[in-house]
Amino acid sequence: MDDCIFCKIVKGEIPCYKVYEDDDHLAFLDISQFTKGHTLLIPKVHVNNYWELNDPKGIAIVLQKIGKHFKDLGYKYVDTLTFGRLVAHLHFHLVPHNGDDSEWEKGLSGLEYFHNNKRFSPEQLKLIAEEVKL
Ligand SMILES: [Zn+2]
Repeated sequence: MDDCIFCKIVKGEIPCYKVYEDDDHLAFLDISQFTKGHTLLIPKVHVNNYWELNDPKGIAIVLQKIGKHFKDLGYKYVDTLTFGRLVAHLHFHLVPHNGDDSEWEKGLSGLEYFHNNKRFSPEQLKLIAEEVKL
């Protein structure tokens, strides 16, 4: 898809803060960082929905791998949500956090989150990606 931001990231036309990559999948920091380490996992192929994947098991295995890695880094929880509408390319949000000290519990609303994309500088995002990458 020519106008898809995630396809452009896969092709390297738009930079990202990479967390994980294999032949079929890419994970990178969500620029808005709902919590520190908030990561998006996408298939490299453009589909809108999970059930459209030829290999749905493949991305589930990567999801588990990243989730376990975040737990190993010391996060108590890794909330996982799936979307494919606002950016019409299937993406899993992995939101690592530790409970009551996180933004999740402070009640950052969805709207605040979507307008929160200046929270960290590019240099800070680079450091966060290095901390959480596989
Ligand atoms: Zn796409």
